[in-house]
Amino acid sequence: MKLVRFGAKGAEKPGILDAQGRVRSLEGVVADWGGLFLADEWMAHVRTLDRERLPLVAAGTRLGACVANSPKFLCIGLNYADHAAETGATVPSEPVVFAKSTSAICGPNDEVEIPRGAQKTDWEVELGVVIGVRTRHVEERDALAHVAGYCVVNDLSEREYQLERTGQWTKGKSCDTFGPIGPWLVTRDEVPDPQQLGLWLEVDGVRRQTGNTRTMVFGVATLVSYLSRFMTLEPGDVISTGTPPGVGLGMKPPLYLHAGQVMRLWIDGLGEQCQLTVPAS
Ligand code: ZN
Repeated sequence: MKLVRFGAKGAEKPGILDAQGRVRSLEGVVADWGGLFLADEWMAHVRTLDRERLPLVAAGTRLGACVANSPKFLCIGLNYADHAAETGATVPSEPVVFAKSTSAICGPNDEVEIPRGAQKTDWEVELGVVIGVRTRHVEERDALAHVAGYCVVNDLSEREYQLERTGQWTKGKSCDTFGPIGPWLVTRDEVPDPQQLGLWLEVDGVRRQTGNTRTMVFGVATLVSYLSRFMTLEPGDVISTGTPPGVGLGMKPPLYLHAGQVMRLWIDGLGEQCQLTVPAS
């Protein structure tokens, strides 16, 4: 199933794609795509519905982030060996974990704000993992059963804030609109192997990133198990699993975003995002 949230920012409603790829409303069926509604029992219930009989949502309706009220937005740094190399970092011996503010989350096609005074805003296409149930100390072999589904994430980054302004990475990762999530939450049954997904990103029609999740240093099952040893993962938590090569920081000379550019992001089976950059208000 491809689950969506549609409508105005802050007032999104749950929906689902039908066989033709049109959005159908699930208002009155589930409260939203978050919390307990991400559990297998609710997914099984929704699967039994005849989608063609659900109310059709007008084409062109805005999509919000495909998961609601995420308790945590965790990210993995330097998780593709070829990306670590381009940034001059060594491949880590354990996953590099950092947090992005949940207030950075926005819809897949919303405008992305270049922060005031920012000079080094950068793109990162990533496989997003959405946790479906409370997860603590899960073994690697059981970890994928705790995943509700997968989505595209753009882990936008302001490199000066991230790397030149002291401390950890959070400042450079958490600006408003630095976390487009979606368009769809693709349930895990439709992603039999999350380590075989091609992904790419374009800026103004020029391909900048091309990769495949098979070159991750730490795969999704390892990451979910690893994180669950340090904290309880909760339904709706988003784990962004790192980016393949081709970020602006890694180019010689580095190339960064400015207002008025268009990013397109793609992951096989998980759909496409498209964002226009604008100056922060
Ligand atoms: Zn990232």
